[in-house]
Amino acid sequence: MSSFNFDVITLFPKAFELINNLGVITKAREKSLIDVNLHDLREFGEGSYRQVDDKPYGGGAGMVLKPEPIYKAYESIKKLPNSKTLLMTPQGKVLKQNDLLRWSTLDQIIFICGQYEGFDERVRRLADEEISLGDYVLSGGEIPAMSIINGVTRLLPGTLGARDSLIDESHNSSLLEYPQYTRPQIYREMKVPDILLSGNHEEIKSWREQKMLERTMDRRKDLIPNTESVDINKIHSKKKKTRKS
Ligand code: SAH
Repeated sequence: MSSFNFDVITLFPKAFELINNLGVITKAREKSLIDVNLHDLREFGEGSYRQVDDKPYGGGAGMVLKPEPIYKAYESIKKLPNSKTLLMTPQGKVLKQNDLLRWSTLDQIIFICGQYEGFDERVRRLADEEISLGDYVLSGGEIPAMSIINGVTRLLPGTLGARDSLIDESHNSSLLEYPQYTRPQIYREMKVPDILLSGNHEEIKSWREQKMLERTMDRRKDLIPNTESVDINKIHSKKKKTRKS
């Protein structure tokens, strides 16, 4: 099986040393499941100063990344058949777990990371998708790109020991995960719920389903479609009925 290629165009390739030290990425690289190729934008800079940025036309604060170095860096990357180019920008679509799932079947993701006040508008033409990490502004696209590399890598077959942990967790089913406990049974007077110690798998399962719903209703109502019409008790009575029948 060929590895998944992450190609990153960035002014700060050193920033990516961080992800290499995260368990999931280190293991995936050791197993040759992924390759992270860093393309230093500075090397594609213009003139003897390797200029990559300039003042914006029309005036305004700060510097903007020039288009030529980004296009040159982009064109130097070998494209695999099943490849997507993602532009990191706070003006993009806000990243969701579904996007990570969708991209995890590709062969390659090419990231374009902005810096300073962003990039020349003409860079947008290179992007298949424009992606934002959230409704806030960071100083560069490196952390958003690293987040996507991390999130996609852990979905690749062979990366996680326990595939089941991908099924249960928050955002896969659009519900948040139930509360988890490990040993000890009592810690600083906080006790593990009896049901989890009962060994009754059926009851544990339905307790967990109930907690997922309660938690999502409590913290992230917006994740539940048609929240108005959702009544936890109704859902549970329905579930019990179907289980009996
Ligand atoms: N002036 C720009 C923001 C520049 S921030 C604007 O208002 O759109 C500098 C760079 O950091 C951006 O080009 C982008 O690559 C990255 N960045 C900042 N916040 C981000 C976010 N929420 N999601 C993805 N990338 C972001």
